[in-house]
Amino acid sequence: RGNSKDVDREVASVCPFCGVGCQVALKIKDGRVKQVDGIDGPANEGRLCVKGRFGYDYIHHPHRLTRPLIRLDDAPKALDVDPANPFTHFRAASWEEALDAAAGGLARLREAHGGEAVAGFGSAKCTNEEAYLFQKLIRQGFGHNNVDHCTRLCHASSVAALMENVGSGAVTATFNEIEHADAAIVIGANPAENHPVAATYFKQFAKRGGRLIVMDPRGQALKRHATHMLQFRPGADVALLNAIMSVIVEEGLYDQGYIDRFTENWDAEKQHLAGFSPEAMEPLCGIPAGTIREVARDFATARAGMIFWGMGISQHVHGTDNSRCLINLALMTGNVGRSGTGLHPLRGQNNVQGASDAGLIPMFLPDYQSVTDAAARQRFSGIWESAGFSDAAGLTVTEILDGVHAGRIRGMYILGENPAMSDPDVTHARAALAKLDHLVVQDIFLTETANFADVILPAAAFYEKDGTVTNTNRQVQMGRAAVSPPGDARPDWKITVALARRLGLDWAYDHPSQVFAEMKQGMRSLDNITWDRLEKEGAITYPCLSETDPGQAVVFGDGFPRPEGRARFAPADIVPPDELPDDDYPMILTTGRQLEHWHTGSMTRRSKVLDAMEPQANCSLHPSTLRKLGVEPGGMVRLETRRGTVDVMARTDRAVAPDMVFLPFAYVEAAANILTNPALDPFGKIPEFKFAAVRVTASPEV
Ligand code: SF4
Repeated sequence: RGNSKDVDREVASVCPFCGVGCQVALKIKDGRVKQVDGIDGPANEGRLCVKGRFGYDYIHHPHRLTRPLIRLDDAPKALDVDPANPFTHFRAASWEEALDAAAGGLARLREAHGGEAVAGFGSAKCTNEEAYLFQKLIRQGFGHNNVDHCTRLCHASSVAALMENVGSGAVTATFNEIEHADAAIVIGANPAENHPVAATYFKQFAKRGGRLIVMDPRGQALKRHATHMLQFRPGADVALLNAIMSVIVEEGLYDQGYIDRFTENWDAEKQHLAGFSPEAMEPLCGIPAGTIREVARDFATARAGMIFWGMGISQHVHGTDNSRCLINLALMTGNVGRSGTGLHPLRGQNNVQGASDAGLIPMFLPDYQSVTDAAARQRFSGIWESAGFSDAAGLTVTEILDGVHAGRIRGMYILGENPAMSDPDVTHARAALAKLDHLVVQDIFLTETANFADVILPAAAFYEKDGTVTNTNRQVQMGRAAVSPPGDARPDWKITVALARRLGLDWAYDHPSQVFAEMKQGMRSLDNITWDRLEKEGAITYPCLSETDPGQAVVFGDGFPRPEGRARFAPADIVPPDELPDDDYPMILTTGRQLEHWHTGSMTRRSKVLDAMEPQANCSLHPSTLRKLGVEPGGMVRLETRRGTVDVMARTDRAVAPDMVFLPFAYVEAAANILTNPALDPFGKIPEFKFAAVRVTASPEV
């Protein structure tokens, strides 16, 4: 770490990793980031985790894409590059040539097969303005809504449940509100690894006597701080949550005043819960009935309670039902709309909230205005001064790749996403990418997905561009360019604008602030939030009620954005995981992130400190399981599912149940998604990353 006297200048921006959205001071020396410190942002108050503090040097990595690339005519489309010489399948090109080739290929498909032959994946790692431009390009340029991004793989089911029953997909309270709570549930989330700065607030809460109830099939670091740790059977979320709620009904612990004033469908929910006594659910969820009763009382009798959840809730075929249960629990206990209460799905990527708000989803225009709503379509056609676009909801991430296999989609524009690593059953996804007639990939590295591209456009990293991002707390924050992009790399918004113009769209943006101003025309969520204010204040929470309001940390105190202002109880039944263990595949595979590595690893594995901390692909197994397999900790195991096989180093972890294996998805050499099940939740269309039947044996590859 350097001394601050050694730096030329300091630039304030936002950490590019997780949805906490910590504000940072970037110390710059000789045009390079030399050090990163936390500053006093609303979500972090000076704190940073290891990724934010040390994971910045990927931007200066020699693997950065610095020139546009065009695939060589005879190069095979496959993930078979030589790591020592990764660019052998491409030749360098000028921007003019690459943009002509990129746009020309997409335009030819549009002419020959119609706009629906081209689809787009945007990115939750880009700015709000870039997400907005990307969805606009697909809708305006190709006339349909086949545009999506990684929200489909993380919280799509949470958003589906929240939209349906609360009327809004965002959190009802910032995570910092836990300061005013006296009970909190953290379920299906491992914040100490995935939202580490948020976790510091949870630990402080527990330290000052708050009742912290942690529920997860895996044990975790928050366990040490928890009043209760419920390590329930994987996939038994609905059974456990309904059992908790049945106690609240049975013992009359619900808030009748709140229910009468702010909700609907209570009688149906109450009746439904009668079949879920803790005693009946104990064998399913593996938690003693007495503990379920204690937890129900603890939460229901709290003066103010919050509920936090992560992808352990959302990434199931019953992910929307899981979220419905959490909403029901908050509503019946009157825990929405007051300080210290709320529903908070902890968002994953740094800008997944903002990218979703900006309309980077197939069923919604910006601000969750449905594409089926004629007035909303007309509004945006007016703002964009263009003819209309389809009134049908578009295809989601996995459906788009299925559409490629079916021959309906022949070209794609992929900005900053890595489906060749992140999609379930990734062999199927890679085959789809290889099948495309024309693939344009825009990124900062030659990702696994870029290996399949016809044209690769080199983009600026987050610390190399200006733009706004929105964190899990609904806080819109200003990201600022601190250093120049390497070589010929350009900010994503500039590249998308150049492509749009070649596709015949009359776009004339010179700065992201112009895009932000256009977004405000169609997005009421940005009322009273201006570029100038963000420049000065750094962060403003939406909704924001006036030009001097810092924004509303807690919403829905006066009712919900639903008919008659009422939230809705949505009874949920038990739906089993899609693929249950059997004699051939007797264990349960679950996947996720590690503290040190971010998503598909393209950034953090190129960061010296983070890579040194976790240099090798690994999985976690209970010590008794490893003993049974006859494998020493650090030895290799083979994981096999119906989709494929992975050999990976095993470590012991008592937090993992004896019949489970946990595999992080950041490592290409042991890609977790070779194994995962692509079965989808029917509402959120999110894949079941958290449960697949797996066989684990000692690996013959030692
Ligand atoms: Fe970055 Fe998230 Fe860590 Fe904050 S908690 S420093 S936003 S990775």
